[in-house]
Amino acid sequence: HAPVRPSAAEVLSRVFGFDSFRGEQQAIVDQVVAGGDAVVLMPTGGGKSLCYQVPSIVREGTGVVISPLIALMQDQVDALLAVGVNAAFLNSTQSPEERDRVERAYLAGELDLLYVAPERLGSEATKRFLANGRIALFAIDEAHCVSQWGHDFRPDYLTLGDLAERWPDVPRIALTATATEATHREITDRLHLHNARHFVASFDRPNIQYRIVPKNEPRKQLVDFIRKEGAGQAGIVYALSRNTVEKTAAHLQANGIAALPYHAGLDASLRQRTQARFLREDGIVIVATIAFGMGIDKPDVRFVAHIDLPKSVEGYYQETGRAGRDGEPSVAWLAYGLQDVVQLRRMIDDSRGDLAHRRRMSAHLDAMLGLCETVECRRRNLLGYFGQPSQPCGNCDTCLDPPEVWDGTIPAQKLLST
Ligand code: ADP
Ligand code: MG
Ligand code: ZN
Repeated sequence: HAPVRPSAAEVLSRVFGFDSFRGEQQAIVDQVVAGGDAVVLMPTGGGKSLCYQVPSIVREGTGVVISPLIALMQDQVDALLAVGVNAAFLNSTQSPEERDRVERAYLAGELDLLYVAPERLGSEATKRFLANGRIALFAIDEAHCVSQWGHDFRPDYLTLGDLAERWPDVPRIALTATATEATHREITDRLHLHNARHFVASFDRPNIQYRIVPKNEPRKQLVDFIRKEGAGQAGIVYALSRNTVEKTAAHLQANGIAALPYHAGLDASLRQRTQARFLREDGIVIVATIAFGMGIDKPDVRFVAHIDLPKSVEGYYQETGRAGRDGEPSVAWLAYGLQDVVQLRRMIDDSRGDLAHRRRMSAHLDAMLGLCETVECRRRNLLGYFGQPSQPCGNCDTCLDPPEVWDGTIPAQKLLST
């Protein structure tokens, strides 16, 4: 007789210490535990990880998780080990000895979860190795990376469609916080998830107040905003260039705000320390390029500010989504000026890549401009972009303080009627 497997509810409470599943988690877990495929569209902070972690423990064998960011893997594995789950990862940062140890643990059936970088899973050697063990499920995290139309395309993800043919009996679950219909379709097609059940959560984050202001003196505006609304609170400020990050962090510091710069040009150990301080201390403001934030799970970030225009609505949504994961009131603030549009258009024109790619980037930018320029509810615009109709929200700048619209048709009509 096979040993009795724990139930999902038992794993949820005994291992993770939670009383109940949230939203669609239960239905998703049931689907995968039963051996079915799933496509999960759920906003950042919604709780996607449990959707594959719980079934990995409940089902016999190892849950193989494909995750695009090496830094993220380490964090996830550490968090799992801390609650007594046997987890490990395979990626390029490991020594041969470490890799060996992980591989042996997998083959011995000791691992509940194994995180693997997508480029590894593309290799035949890795697939042969995995075939020698027992796989509980495949979880494809950040599945929007498979979308060539998306803002975060990674070619290695394209090879993941093969998993369906190679392991037809192993359930697969793809998860993302990007919900556009085009991305959804691409995930389904390219990952061969035509028989999957689809779980689409609401993308509304009602506790986040969206605000977009005209940009004239961005650093001064930012200081004013933080003093007025975020004094002493944890926040993230996003800028496009390293230079702007450095200058802005210095400016905030000079104004008595506990700001720290974060970008890919800084030493890895310094970045690590900055991240640790942000997580542990109160009221730290990180000024960062988009390199910061993916996978950082800090519940009480009270504001996310953009002093440069994000390149896409998807990016804006993901970045602002790092505010208010605890459900408490939070602000997403963006200073937007035409100089940004000019700069981004130039970047698109100068970018390598084919015409189709530039068109795509241009379409992303246009959608972002649509959000900035709208005189109607920001949230409604945002959710509409993700295919989710909604009513005016009452918690964005245009709802709270409707802009005065100069209606050119009235004087024109007057002119015509005289
Ligand atoms: P996502 O990957 O969708 O952004 P995570 O899986 O990182 O979200 O989860 C976000 C946070 O929500 C984590 O702190 C997680 O522990 C918490 N969480 C997830 N599910 C539950 C639940 N059922 N009960 C309580 N907390 C939960
Ligand atoms: Mg996640
Ligand atoms: Zn609104």
